[in-house]
Amino acid sequence: MASTTGTDSTKLSGLTEFIQQYKTLLKPYADTALVYANNCRTAVNTYCDDWEPWQIILCTLGLTVAVIWIYQFLFDHDLSPWQRLSKFFFKTIRKIPIIGPKIQQEIEKTMREIESKLFPLGPGQRYVNQLPDKGIKENELMKLIEDKYHAIESHNWEKGMVSGTVYCGSQDLTRLTAKVYGEFAWANPLHPDVFPGLRKMEAEVVAMCVRMFNGGPKACGAVTTGGTESILMACRAYRAIAYERGVKRPEILAPKSVHAAFDKAATYFCMKVVRVPQDENMRCDIKAMERMINKNTCVLVGSAPQFPHGSIDPIEDISKLALKYNLPCHVDACLGGFLIAFMDKAGYPLQPFDFRLEGVTSISADTHKYGYAPKGSSVVLYKNEEIRSGQYFAYPDWQGGLYATPCIGGNHCGAIIAATCAVMMYHGEQGYVEATRKVIETTRYIEAGIREIEGLHIVGSSDVSVVAFGSLDFDIFQLSDMMTKQGWHLNPLQFPTSIHICCTLVHTKTGYADKFLNDLRLVTAEMMSKPRTKPDGSAAMYGMAQTIPDRSIVTQVACTYYNAYYRTTPSPLLNGME
Ligand SMILES: *Cc1c(COP(=O)(O)O)cnc(C)c1O
Repeated sequence: MASTTGTDSTKLSGLTEFIQQYKTLLKPYADTALVYANNCRTAVNTYCDDWEPWQIILCTLGLTVAVIWIYQFLFDHDLSPWQRLSKFFFKTIRKIPIIGPKIQQEIEKTMREIESKLFPLGPGQRYVNQLPDKGIKENELMKLIEDKYHAIESHNWEKGMVSGTVYCGSQDLTRLTAKVYGEFAWANPLHPDVFPGLRKMEAEVVAMCVRMFNGGPKACGAVTTGGTESILMACRAYRAIAYERGVKRPEILAPKSVHAAFDKAATYFCMKVVRVPQDENMRCDIKAMERMINKNTCVLVGSAPQFPHGSIDPIEDISKLALKYNLPCHVDACLGGFLIAFMDKAGYPLQPFDFRLEGVTSISADTHKYGYAPKGSSVVLYKNEEIRSGQYFAYPDWQGGLYATPCIGGNHCGAIIAATCAVMMYHGEQGYVEATRKVIETTRYIEAGIREIEGLHIVGSSDVSVVAFGSLDFDIFQLSDMMTKQGWHLNPLQFPTSIHICCTLVHTKTGYADKFLNDLRLVTAEMMSKPRTKPDGSAAMYGMAQTIPDRSIVTQVACTYYNAYYRTTPSPLLNGME
């Protein structure tokens, strides 16, 4: 013992010496620092000599407030400082004389162009701008509706010339939905005591969907009026969980391709969408997603498949990330939910994407797309009731009684829910499997056809029912315009410039896919043979819309679309032009 203590004390004395040395070495510096500190103190004190204590207190307060303000300006805001700076920059530009009015002129010119071309009425057509004096008898009214309204519909979708939009449209389903609608025309989910049959149907729609997506015994859900509402509801539920955790502005972490409904949810519910980059197949870059998780993240989102290119995000990996970071995970299967659930059985096996994955906590799936139900119905499904309760609304103190609703609407349409239930039972699993087989087969056929057309290339990975394509040789929007002239309605996509066709049951009819490929071949050959020209019409507009750095201008112009939509009297913009 003694000997060890001896060596220890030698070591110790060595250390003391070392410290001693350092002390002497550092002493002059320490002394100088002390002198400086002292000087500072006296300087500050002398400076403050002329100040009264209340002034000092006020200044301190002011300074604190300023620091907080600067902190908030930099970090605690919807937009990053960079985004706000550019917003300020563009706003300032538009105030500069000559340049500002010039930009405004250009915007108005574009808006006029939009307004004059959109929704033209045919010869002899007029708008009804006020109630008819006397009511119109049924016979006469039906004739009016046939001749003046139904007759001006384009009916192009019936010829298989429209991407997405009408997912089945068969005579059988039209008859069935109209009948069920008639039976439940006045049914209203807000009053289940009055309409118990409707409540049963709504609950059964949810139950059937839970089963389709392999939900466990605790899984549950709600019927909504569409994919957008399903997404809004899920986002609100996750906001509630984040608020519990003390997060002030919860962030939705989702790939760039994720549906704009998430941005809508973010603006409605004071949240923020943070967009994750994609890999070369337009799928979520999982490494980037992991890097972008932060303390404000409230949910990880993946789409199965995403709308623009039809690729399925790596849901298994997103689910694993969610488990690792103890976050919820939403799968947006609005578009293809009623396809992917049946693809295994239809002979197109997929990796798991639903509640079979432990990390998946909710799924949105549109019954009004490949569920073939009438428009205005969708479901949002949850792993358990606890999460679902975050989408509910209740106001217990209203004079009108204790008020609570599960979704956005108050009184709303029960007939569509009844029709949805009927359409699901009408198909049954076999019906959906068969429909899925046809849709996927046709999509793969179209994809293979496009791959063989010189001048076109596939964008993303056509995993389910969407085929997106672009061109390196010409402006794909010009091709799209030429297809439009022939009656086709394809979807323009941006970042990168491309277009897509979303295959529905309508396209599976014999000859329809071939007609599409033939038309596309001819138009592509024409584009390849003629020299590049400056785009005009909507090709010019879509092309330009991507390149305008001031996105507020694009937003402004996009909103005029809806001014035109609702217009029944001449536009003030078109004053004296028509
Ligand atoms: C259609 C769609 C939605 C939104 O659904 P709406 O029915 O238009 O409200 C959401 N996500 C995807 C992937 C979609 O295709």
